[in-house]
Amino acid sequence: MKLKFVALETELGIIYYHSGAPRTTYGITLPMITMRQAIKELLWEQPLSALEISQRLSLPEKEVLDHLTHIAKSPGPGHQFRLTPAVCNHCGFSFKKRDRLTIPSRCPVCRHESIRRPRFAVVKK
Ligand SMILES: [Zn+2]
Repeated sequence: MKLKFVALETELGIIYYHSGAPRTTYGITLPMITMRQAIKELLWEQPLSALEISQRLSLPEKEVLDHLTHIAKSPGPGHQFRLTPAVCNHCGFSFKKRDRLTIPSRCPVCRHESIRRPRFAVVKK
């Protein structure tokens, strides 16, 4: 069986847990959502890097990037996918022209390998 996540919107934020967990909290029957939807909803709230998403959902970063590729193409009605470019921590170079979602390995200007990860968000159009 494929694991699915359940999302519950609470005053504390959106809570996710596996479908194997109890399905009701506060007497509400929770909707089942897919991992991709869970990522989308996380990105409604704030821009996150693939690593941060991976940590929050206990999902390998590679899988997160795969989901993000799909979310970038179809962010949902009335929404658009927004990429905040990676930035070189050394000289401040911004990877604005890069549309790949992965972290660049080094800066083309100063050759440093300390790069701030790109961040992603889903925002209203
Ligand atoms: Zn640089």
